Amino acid sequence: MKCELCPKACKADRAVTVGFCGASAEPEVSTICVHQGEEPPICGKKGICNVFFAHCNLQCIYCQNGDISTLSDPTSALIRYRGVDAIVEGIAQTLKRTENIVGFVTPTHYANHIPAIVEGLHQRGLSPITVYNTGGYESINTLQMLAPYIDIYLPDFKYMDPQLALRYSHAQDYPTVALKALKEMYNQKGSALPTDDDGLAYRGIIVRHLVLPGQVENSLAVLDEIADLSPNLHVALMAQYFPPTEGLPDQLGRTLTEEEYARVTDHFYAIGLHRGWVQELSAQQSFRPDFTQQQAFEMNVGLTQSTN
Ligand code: SF4
Repeated sequence: MKCELCPKACKADRAVTVGFCGASAEPEVSTICVHQGEEPPICGKKGICNVFFAHCNLQCIYCQNGDISTLSDPTSALIRYRGVDAIVEGIAQTLKRTENIVGFVTPTHYANHIPAIVEGLHQRGLSPITVYNTGGYESINTLQMLAPYIDIYLPDFKYMDPQLALRYSHAQDYPTVALKALKEMYNQKGSALPTDDDGLAYRGIIVRHLVLPGQVENSLAVLDEIADLSPNLHVALMAQYFPPTEGLPDQLGRTLTEEEYARVTDHFYAIGLHRGWVQELSAQQSFRPDFTQQQAFEMNVGLTQSTN
């Protein structure tokens, strides 16, 4: 196929090569594990079954999951599941230990396989809630194709500054693309996040924004845009940025300051956002995944719920 799954539309023939995302045709997953660190309505008491796909269509220079997003060796030991059947089996086994909910993490470049994965689970008598955990750089066609298979969208909204998006994520059009994608998700799901008797969400959207050091203005603009779309959207404001490597530009070599984060959290409430979670600044130390371990995440998230 000439791939146009994501807005890069690089038209790579993934049967014979890889595109910008580094992914070939067969879906590759690094880890399928219990994850306690997501927002409470998608974690419940036992945690979510998270499926961490290898490769990524954004290649952010500060990626917090860089071990698996930038993989270029197809024989890497960090790829533990290859193909739909192996992924379905891994999910089925992990669901025995989690809530009845599956998170597809960084799935965009394998979105064409999501229907087969979900149908494979149904054939085994499993009907988990499905969460699409994405960097937010999505095409409308792909989101419309996914609509029957995804219950909850969990998109990042990283940038409103096109130059920042270009410098950090190679995607100058990120602001317009991500906003269009969020509107499509909103059209599909609305702003409600209904939960069952155990507090587990079964439909909706949670928008995530990771505040980057030295980029407060970008964060304020992102929150403004979300509030313009609907102040009733659930937003998770994240403070967990940690420099993943040395030599990063600007101020990416450090963590957030209290003052920076306070400006963003103050703005969050000032513009009327009132649903979601504000991560504690101390989470910077808690979210450094180790993908050489099958259980890449163990820590809890340090989220403070805003008013509902
Ligand atoms: S999913 Fe990968 S190969 Fe396909 S258009 Fe996007 S970057 Fe290119």
